[in-house]
Amino acid sequence: MPVIKADLDLCQGYANCVMEAPKFFDINDDGVVVVLEEEFPEGSRSRVEAAVRSCPVSALRIEE
Ligand code: SF4
Repeated sequence: MPVIKADLDLCQGYANCVMEAPKFFDINDDGVVVVLEEEFPEGSRSRVEAAVRSCPVSALRIEE
């Protein structure tokens, strides 16, 4: 299964990813992204890709 990778040093806590795919992303108390489920099924791909695209600092990527 594909896996979500987040670069925590890049993340600025804009939370765009959380709005696009709240099942997979949250923001912790420090304002940094938390990946709730790293692996995702193909059925969730479009949601996850939308979240990855929405990140203004390109902190998210999908590892196949
Ligand atoms: S959209 Fe990018 S910068 Fe914003 S919380 Fe998500 S990973 Fe971090």
